[in-house]
Amino acid sequence: MIVGIDLGTTNSLVALWRDGAATLVPNPLGQFLTPSCVGFLDDGTLIVGQAARERLQTHPQLSAALFKRYMGTSRAVTLGTQTFRPEELSSFVLRALKADAETFLGEPVTEAIITVPAYFSDAQRKATRVAGELAGLKVERLLNEPTAAALAYGLQNRDESKFLVFDLGGGTFDVSILELFEGVMEVRASAGDNFLGGEDFVTLLMQTFLQQTALGQRVGTRVEDLPPPLAIRLRVVAEYAKRALTNAATATLQIEHTGETYTWQVDADTFAALAEPLLERLRIPVERALRDARIRPAELHSIMLAGGATRMPMVRRLVSRMFGRFPLVNFNPDEVVALGAAVQAGLKMRDAALDEVVMTDVTPYSMGIEITERITPERMSKGHYLPIIERNSVVPISQVKSIETVQDNQRVIELRIFQGESPMVVDNVFLGNLRIPIAAKPVGAVKVDVRFTYDVNGILEAECTVTETGQKHVLVIEENPGVMTPEEVRQRLQTLSTIKIHPRDQTENRTLMARAERVYQQQLGSQREAVGHAIAVFQDALERQDRDAIREVRAAIKRQLDAIESDTLFE
Ligand code: AMP
Repeated sequence: MIVGIDLGTTNSLVALWRDGAATLVPNPLGQFLTPSCVGFLDDGTLIVGQAARERLQTHPQLSAALFKRYMGTSRAVTLGTQTFRPEELSSFVLRALKADAETFLGEPVTEAIITVPAYFSDAQRKATRVAGELAGLKVERLLNEPTAAALAYGLQNRDESKFLVFDLGGGTFDVSILELFEGVMEVRASAGDNFLGGEDFVTLLMQTFLQQTALGQRVGTRVEDLPPPLAIRLRVVAEYAKRALTNAATATLQIEHTGETYTWQVDADTFAALAEPLLERLRIPVERALRDARIRPAELHSIMLAGGATRMPMVRRLVSRMFGRFPLVNFNPDEVVALGAAVQAGLKMRDAALDEVVMTDVTPYSMGIEITERITPERMSKGHYLPIIERNSVVPISQVKSIETVQDNQRVIELRIFQGESPMVVDNVFLGNLRIPIAAKPVGAVKVDVRFTYDVNGILEAECTVTETGQKHVLVIEENPGVMTPEEVRQRLQTLSTIKIHPRDQTENRTLMARAERVYQQQLGSQREAVGHAIAVFQDALERQDRDAIREVRAAIKRQLDAIESDTLFE
């Protein structure tokens, strides 16, 4: 059996093809979405999912999230005394999903199709494959997330067509334009914003809450400046309100702080008006993707939504307005990618899998250097960007541009290298710099050729040649250093196999305990004492392994925590 896995930044899902349909697999809590969070308990056992998410706040040193952002880099995360690479953290999530699928099916699962963003580079894709391997899964293939969405909608059965996938998750926004041609799916263009997602709408509600209530006068109106415990509580309240506004016309945000209660009622129209700047930002990648693919909106056969944040009515209205028609919404947007991966798994098992052209052969960003613009012979303007390799260029690629000195007797050319699309370098990502000593000459007399060469492994080589002397200076920038070698994978597999995994069938107890500990930390006074007592009673029942008592205590604590948490929401 091949399973389909959506390994997401905030949540992951596993689905499979059964009785002619894609079926989502529930986790031990009965939910399809498993938070992409991992952590260790104090006794060194590994937990994954909601329990680990709860402990992000109470045990930040032992918990990790958002590691998909670092796939394909060697950025390590320390949890307690151990250090892990992003593909290892991802492998823990995959292992949990594998276990859930095995419980669901009653048979071992050894093969998977895993989805990745269309813009993932070769190094990021390799890291994802390694994550699968470390989880004991043969990665049958990687599937682009937008292609998976199209498969969920059965679009592979059409003749030639073009589609757009609008994917707004918790922290990232991706737009992809797909073209199906002679049975092969190709990503024609992809664009996005790695720092725009549902979380930003929550931050906006928090910010406005501080401005609208007297709480802001006491603690300041900037979300970043809030003391962490208050920020966490306010974020929970705002997240709840945001979701409520998806289905209702109004929502109330309420929070208690040092004995005072602060309340703000917000309606959906006000929320949409406040979010106008965020909605504007959503337009930019859409326009860019259409331009890069040279496609007019009218040529698109359909628009598909993915990512939990596209549930927001204001986002759906924006999409409808931009394209002059309604997007397809037959599936839950946070489930559609996993369902599509299961469709591909089903096709694969019948040897009929859809082929796709993989996009690793284009540069995801433009790369260039900082230059000084001469407005007049006397007036200079610094900090401008000169792209050398433009985004969506086919790799490997080598491009050269010439620059010259901007001052008399300039002794050095400082070459600062950036990636990004903004005209001013401060808004782009700094990659590295080269200092090139030159002979003192009048302005413009020294010329330098700057050659950028970018290869399929995401390695950028900047080579500068001083034209007059032929002197060369080279800087190699490895964007994605260190894809693990097979030998490293073998070694790490051994280390990982010694990690004790918290039993999946204990997930419900562990998640509830983590939640009780978080609520204990957040509350004060009598409520805190009551939670402390409940934790003791729960621990006692767990130690006695008394099944009936555990079930009863669990139900009671759930009611108690729900009451406390909804109290703070609706008192
Ligand atoms: P994903 O990464 O696809 O799981 O999307 C997660 C994002 O979707 C988070 O920012 C959630 O707050 C958001 N989200 C999930 N359900 C809803 C809803 N009913 N209304 C608004 N946003 C939602």
